[in-house]
Amino acid sequence: TREIHLAARPDGWPTAANFAVVDRELPAPADGQVLVRNVFMSVDPYMRPRMNDVKSYVPPFQVGEALDGGAVGEVLESRVDGLAPGDLVVHRLGWREHAVVDRPRKLEPLAGVSPSHYLGVLGTTGLTAYVGLLDIAGFRPGDAVFVSGAAGAVGSVAGQIARLRGASRVIGSAGSAEKVALLRDKLGFDAAFDYRDGHLYRQLTAAAPEGIDVYFDNVGGEHLEAAIGVLNDHGRVALCGSISAYNDAEPKPGPKNLGLAVGKRLSLRGFIVTDHAARTRDMIREVGGWLADGQLVAEETVVDGGLDAAVDAFLGMLRGENTGKMVVRF
Ligand code: NDP
Repeated sequence: TREIHLAARPDGWPTAANFAVVDRELPAPADGQVLVRNVFMSVDPYMRPRMNDVKSYVPPFQVGEALDGGAVGEVLESRVDGLAPGDLVVHRLGWREHAVVDRPRKLEPLAGVSPSHYLGVLGTTGLTAYVGLLDIAGFRPGDAVFVSGAAGAVGSVAGQIARLRGASRVIGSAGSAEKVALLRDKLGFDAAFDYRDGHLYRQLTAAAPEGIDVYFDNVGGEHLEAAIGVLNDHGRVALCGSISAYNDAEPKPGPKNLGLAVGKRLSLRGFIVTDHAARTRDMIREVGGWLADGQLVAEETVVDGGLDAAVDAFLGMLRGENTGKMVVRF
């Protein structure tokens, strides 16, 4: 099989030179394992910090070893009861064409739902949006909600959950005029703006004349600072990610106005989705229901070309070439 290795650690923005395609012989599956051919793999922002040699909640990728990440595979050979050739499984060995998977999770997609959505809206992405908004930010009907990275995988779902759960106003920011139009016209956001136009605080104030009660932060940096300025008293922030900093070679200072959090009695709370797997069932029931009856749009960017397209897809996602969840199709 072929797989993609980390060839060298990047300093700042990664390039194709940081990756290498490597041929490898796979062992036959042992008891409890299946051999799969990957059909979809996920490219995600958190893979970028994993290219650095830093201690984190998830171990860094190792130079000279294969990358990994979410994938959907079709079983070719099975040594697991209840799994037969042709079945689909969700697993963690993306970035390769074939894999021998331990304790695979069988995928039985809802009718009419693409298997790729189990890497997105009905998978980790959907769970991140669901838990971040409802459990971490403690969303209540009537809240005004601001989502950054709103046209991306997590953001597009978080904003739609807020709308469907009865937000008074949903505001999104994204990196192009096309994405802003998508938020307003297709995903049902009440207001949206392009952060690349600058004047973040001014744009957010104009979009949220009565302030915001919840900020779902995918971006960090200036977005977080603007949100702190606009949050109402007792506002709540779900700290989901800080993609604006993932390619910085040196850390930048945090929000200069954090002191406002005292007088406004703000709560800012970080979380990692893997701690919240117990909510998966609730998420699939609720989000899957909205998906089935057409109230929620599962925005997705599918890149064809399999392994040969994976590195460009990943780098493109970091630059904002995706709307919704980006997956690579083999
Ligand atoms: P996205 O689909 O949102 O893709 C990343 C997007 O980030 C790009 O499309 C781009 O859109 C935007 N972006 C890139 N650079 C910047 C920048 N400097 N400022 C603002 N936006 C930028 O990815 P996900 O939905 O998978 O992830 C969104 C966030 O959620 C990330 O921070 C990620 O790390 C985090 N996350 C956290 C989890 C957790 O457990 N806490 C789990 C999963 C994700 P644009 O064109 O708008 O710039």
